[in-house]
Amino acid sequence: MRRLIDSHVHMESFDDPETVVQRSKDSDIDAIICVGGSLSSSKIAKRLATEHPGFLYPALGVHPSEVLKDDIEAAITYIRENLDSCVAVGEIGLDYAYSFAKPKDVRARMRDIFSMFLDVAAEFDLPTSIHSRSAYKDSLELAAKAGVEGVFHWYDGPLHTLKAILDAGFYVSATPSVAYSKGARAVMAEVPLERVLVETDSPVYLRNLDRKSTPVDVGLVVESLAELKGLEASEVSMVTARNAERLFRLP
Ligand SMILES: [Zn+2]
Repeated sequence: MRRLIDSHVHMESFDDPETVVQRSKDSDIDAIICVGGSLSSSKIAKRLATEHPGFLYPALGVHPSEVLKDDIEAAITYIRENLDSCVAVGEIGLDYAYSFAKPKDVRARMRDIFSMFLDVAAEFDLPTSIHSRSAYKDSLELAAKAGVEGVFHWYDGPLHTLKAILDAGFYVSATPSVAYSKGARAVMAEVPLERVLVETDSPVYLRNLDRKSTPVDVGLVVESLAELKGLEASEVSMVTARNAERLFRLP
């Protein structure tokens, strides 16, 4: 039985993924979901997962930061060709906070592309890993309309949209920001443990520790969440691992 799962890692963004995987295996982590941020990084996520079966599981997708640069049709074809070996479509979504995403037509294009990925997920009954920064309502509307399952990764939007996300049946992930961000704590206080996944989104810069994260830091997320919710860390890790197993249908 798995007890600790990092549900969102950009493994290809590490200089030396092999060392990171080895350190993760040597710690308490039982599985890692490796999300793709572009067509090329999705291919790397898939290759790494093939090299570490039963430990790394790939999600294939294109991050909103890359959607205008990447070949979306090629990315969708790649997902269709690799359905059997991936556990989710992701990281996909919307992000209106980027300066390039200010024009209305760019945002409309982002929504069109997000919907294309959602349609693939819906067609093949795959869960999704959704990025929704500064586009919370639109992200929820499109995901709910597509009828997909998924996780709102690192959700830090308004609490009324959070309620709608939970009402629509989605999971929400907790990140290392639970330790230092008032907003993240306010969100996580509202999400029942049965709907929480834990993740590091590594490698990202950890403000409170002044260094970049690795999947091993998912233990810190569990501790922060346990403290916030007044629960035992062992319960938080077990329940969130079960949630990730259920959402991503890990064998
Ligand atoms: Zn990410």
